Amino acid sequence: MRKNIVAGNWKMNKNLQEGVEFAKELDKALTGKSPKCDVVIGTPFIHLATVTSVVDAKRVGVSAQNCADKVSGAYTGEVSAAMVASTGAGYVILGHSERRTYYGETSAKLKEKVKLALENNLKPIFCIGETKDEREGNTHFEVVKSQIVEALFDLSADDFSKIILAYEPVWAIGTGLTATSAQAQEMHAHIRKILADKYGKEVADNTTILYGGSCNKNNAKELFACPDIDGGLIGGASLKVEDFMPIIEAF
Ligand code: PEP
Repeated sequence: MRKNIVAGNWKMNKNLQEGVEFAKELDKALTGKSPKCDVVIGTPFIHLATVTSVVDAKRVGVSAQNCADKVSGAYTGEVSAAMVASTGAGYVILGHSERRTYYGETSAKLKEKVKLALENNLKPIFCIGETKDEREGNTHFEVVKSQIVEALFDLSADDFSKIILAYEPVWAIGTGLTATSAQAQEMHAHIRKILADKYGKEVADNTTILYGGSCNKNNAKELFACPDIDGGLIGGASLKVEDFMPIIEAF
């Protein structure tokens, strides 16, 4: 059976001390609780090693927000998948719309990043989602399909089964505009069908598909109650433990 996951994405927020303080507070808040989902925090690179050392890996998973599309070498400023793995982090967010838009990440680049993440035993949280214009132009189903096919469909079924997908409509990220649960469920079911057509029903049914885009403590319950929504990738509401915990507890 697929896992439910609530993953935070801090983006470029929190200095090291603030990040460590948050991680300790979250770990403490989860102690003695049995949430019905795995919990992950996506921190900037510089936090990874310290954050993994202050949380219990059984309670809190740790994720990078990106990794390089190259193995190693003369790529100033880049951080490889092997380096991320060496911190003890277990996940990496790839293909976030902010990286696609501001840093020109193409499907070809993302394909390399996914491959390197898997080679280093990192679980990719792979983001897909349409812009407002694409939704209004009624091309959203096609756009999301292309993002999946171009970056992921060269993977074997075995490798694909290590991927976590995050459907994040770009128009809902950081805008306070959430997809309705009906819109999100419709897209998640569409995604699961694409996976079933390629890899079969079992792989599709076992793939965790998160929703992201202004998900918060007020709407998480309704979203997570949808049959094909297996949790959330949370930006703004993952920055304070008091906002993040109720989302975890929404399951
Ligand atoms: C995100 O950046 O992945 C995200 C979903 O952000 P927010 O929750 O702030 O919309």
